Amino acid sequence: MFEFTEEQEALRRHIGDFTRRACTREVARQLDESESYPFEIYAGMAELGWLGLPFPEKYGGLGGSAVDIAILIEELSRAMMAAAQVFGAVIYVGGPVMRIGNEEQRQRFLPPIIRGEMQLALGLTEPDSGSDAAALRTRAVRKGDRYILNGAKMFCSRAHIADYILIAARTDTEAPKHKGISLFLVPTGQPGVQVSLLKKLGIKAIGTCEVALVDAEVPVENRLGEENQGWPSLLTCLAMERFYLAAMCTGALADVLDLATDYAKEREQFGRPIGQFQAIQHKLADIYTDLQAARLLTYQTVWHTEQGNLDPKLGSAAKLFCSEAYMRGAMQGMQIMGGYGYMMEFDMQRHFRDAKLMEIGGGTSEIHRSVIGARLVAD
Ligand SMILES: Cc1cc2nc3c(=O)[nH]c(=O)nc-3n(C[C@H](O)[C@H](O)[C@H](O)COP(=O)(O)OP(=O)(O)OC[C@H]3O[C@@H](n4cnc5c(N)ncnc54)[C@H](O)[C@@H]3O)c2cc1C
Repeated sequence: MFEFTEEQEALRRHIGDFTRRACTREVARQLDESESYPFEIYAGMAELGWLGLPFPEKYGGLGGSAVDIAILIEELSRAMMAAAQVFGAVIYVGGPVMRIGNEEQRQRFLPPIIRGEMQLALGLTEPDSGSDAAALRTRAVRKGDRYILNGAKMFCSRAHIADYILIAARTDTEAPKHKGISLFLVPTGQPGVQVSLLKKLGIKAIGTCEVALVDAEVPVENRLGEENQGWPSLLTCLAMERFYLAAMCTGALADVLDLATDYAKEREQFGRPIGQFQAIQHKLADIYTDLQAARLLTYQTVWHTEQGNLDPKLGSAAKLFCSEAYMRGAMQGMQIMGGYGYMMEFDMQRHFRDAKLMEIGGGTSEIHRSVIGARLVAD
């Protein structure tokens, strides 16, 4: 069931070659420390055609499968989680354009996205609506052939470099909260869109922003899908996000295991490598076991996504388990490395900082447990 094809194994090797060249440990460290967006990695991915992996050839894409996409994300994240995050915008915004955009919108947006010429962000979360995302209050009011948007978006990753932000806004204030939401591709280069970068703990190469919308104008042709029908599209987008985040955590956890194992073999105390101590071996064994389970759960979720029969419980379980496994692994990895693991010049601390976000973004652990639990008792 989970065997990879020869082409998929070749893709994995190809991505490994790319990251060893374009996203070395030094590059990852430098991007993280300087909080610089990985533009060169993005351009390299575009050149290799990988930004087009999820899209049909008709638009310049490669027509890849969900498994191909998961392999790409896993391997990029193994080199640096931020490298995989640059692909996030392609999935979060390019995905809805493909699924619910009309032909004119697909032709307008997909080719430049695939060529790496258009940067994108997703603006769903607001200052007062995070886990309860459908409670969003940003308003979009139609005036002739335009919509006027007012409101605020919080934690909008990549907004500082984005050409367009996919904004979820309320178009019907009378309808129940899930029913009056529409999606807009809002151009950022206008006075009504004000973006401020936020200071944060991890994944520092990918900026996260607050976005104020003050009479921001959007032409009607930038509305994605029907008016008031945005929520079901967002749900599909969030379902894709589950396997994307699970694959990302799996790749990063593989790097945690590599770093911890190498260190355990090299570091000597009491006259022998610390990897000879059973206490250290057990920690490595726990990380290894989590990694195998995370990978299986990720690809099981991906496989069902591809078949079109993903049980939401499974998607939530994958995101929940993989993010917590990554966090556990990063904590164990730091413990294995002792004081050096706590130092900024070693890479384990980056995993420790990056991992925490994975338990919060894309639905917190509490929310995913609630999704699974509620469905278990309802089924
Ligand atoms: C670095 C970063 C990048 C992000 N990027 C984006 C982005 O690009 N686009 C975007 O739209 N959003 C983005 N987010 C937002 C992210 O998805 C939200 O932070 C997340 O959904 C949680 O919302 P919140 O932070 O408002 O927490 P809250 O919803 O306020 O939750 C606070 C606490 O209460 C708990 N809680 C809430 N409701 C329940 C409940 N019903 N049962 C049990 N516990 C509950 C939560 O689990 C959490 O522990 C990003 C966030 C971060 C930190």
